[in-house]
Amino acid sequence: MAEKRDYYEVLGVSKGASEDEIKKAFRRQAKKYHPDLNPGDKEAEEKFKEVNEAYEVLSDKEKRGRYDRFGFAGVDPNYGAGSTAYGGSPFGQDIDIGDIFNMFNSSFGGFGGFGGRSARSQNAPRRGSDVEASLTISFEEAAKGCKKEVVYKNVETCKECNGTGASEGTKLKTCPDCGGTGQVTVSKRTAWGTIQTSQTCEKCRGKGKVIEKPCPKCAGVGRTRSSRTVTVTVPAGISQDQILNIGGHGNSGYNGGPAGDLHVYINVKKHDIFERKGDDVWCEIPLTFAQAALGHEVVVPTLDGKSSYMVHAGTQPGDIFKLKGKGIQHLNARGRGDQYVRVTIEVPKNLTAEQKKILQQFEESCGASNYQKQSSFFDKVKKLFKD
Ligand SMILES: [Zn+2]
Ligand SMILES: [Zn+2]
Repeated sequence: MAEKRDYYEVLGVSKGASEDEIKKAFRRQAKKYHPDLNPGDKEAEEKFKEVNEAYEVLSDKEKRGRYDRFGFAGVDPNYGAGSTAYGGSPFGQDIDIGDIFNMFNSSFGGFGGFGGRSARSQNAPRRGSDVEASLTISFEEAAKGCKKEVVYKNVETCKECNGTGASEGTKLKTCPDCGGTGQVTVSKRTAWGTIQTSQTCEKCRGKGKVIEKPCPKCAGVGRTRSSRTVTVTVPAGISQDQILNIGGHGNSGYNGGPAGDLHVYINVKKHDIFERKGDDVWCEIPLTFAQAALGHEVVVPTLDGKSSYMVHAGTQPGDIFKLKGKGIQHLNARGRGDQYVRVTIEVPKNLTAEQKKILQQFEESCGASNYQKQSSFFDKVKKLFKD
């Protein structure tokens, strides 16, 4: 935008000039640059326009007052539109800038785009909103991936009326309240007196058209709630609370706009044996005292079925062994985690007299070399109470 000259400067008068002084100055300048007196002179033509514009504002008491307070922004609705001209608001902080735009809009016309939604924007294609659903899957399904049906509710364009809201065979007619513009003008009292502002027409909700006879299926709304089922592919390695985004399965768009997305929240059921840590699988296996002491081939459950593992003699409770690559598939990547097995020892209960006798004999046969942990512990205790 070319730099605009101050209106007072254009007419060659001072800020405090009287109405009469302004009128005289205008006549003088207008004569000087009048096209009839300067045929074919482009510069004179521009000056003449400039003088006229300045006079139009300064000769009108109300406009002059606004110009004095707010500059060009106060009198030219297009001045600085879309730039930051209004950013550092001369109106102070506590005034809604939207009201100001509305004020300019209605007072001067042609300042579209700021006063509510016009019929055109109401009828423009818009994307539908997203919808949410949840899907519960098993531990194994999360680990290996699966295909699942998700049932959810969304809002779709009414199939009966194709979204128009009008009953079959009837037409939409121009809204009588707004004449099809979608906007109505209302008077509002403000600090600057009563001003006219545009509002979205209530009768047609800004669409500019009203329905003669509403569609029986959607009651004139043009949209219906429906239950939908979609088959989703759950990738291997997915975990609790992750979200699958299914594009285009959300609510239908408006006026032919695209549908929103479906967000599927994943819920993974707890497993009886397995626990997940990252992409590793953990489990506990209880061994008997004798199995741990003698060594034992144990059957370990894995995601791939049963696996056999040789537990060495003298295995202690809390010992952990690893089955490499038996964990969960990395999500969207090659490879798998590992499986870790933690050993627990189950102490036998409810012994018979015979069992007790055998165990007693066994105990008596044991020495410090059999129970290294215990001997070293009591050595420490002895030291502790020496004095
Ligand atoms: Zn309908
Ligand atoms: Zn209307």
